[in-house]
Amino acid sequence: MGKTGKKKVVKKGKKKVKNHITSKKFSKYKIESSGKITKSKTCSKCGPASFLGEHKDRFHCGKCGYTEIKK
Ligand SMILES: [Zn+2]
Repeated sequence: MGKTGKKKVVKKGKKKVKNHITSKKFSKYKIESSGKITKSKTCSKCGPASFLGEHKDRFHCGKCGYTEIKK
């Protein structure tokens, strides 16, 4: 007197995940080949949410105009 329970198998179609980054913030993070994550410089005036744009010889905040000269 043994009924074996039927196993329900639901096949799920795999969604194709495109390898693209939705958030702009992520572009400010660089993952090095060693696995180390480096973050861009942030503005000391606007806070850590504001990244400084990197230029040849300086970092510049587009929000408040703060500029930090590269050493
Ligand atoms: Zn700023």
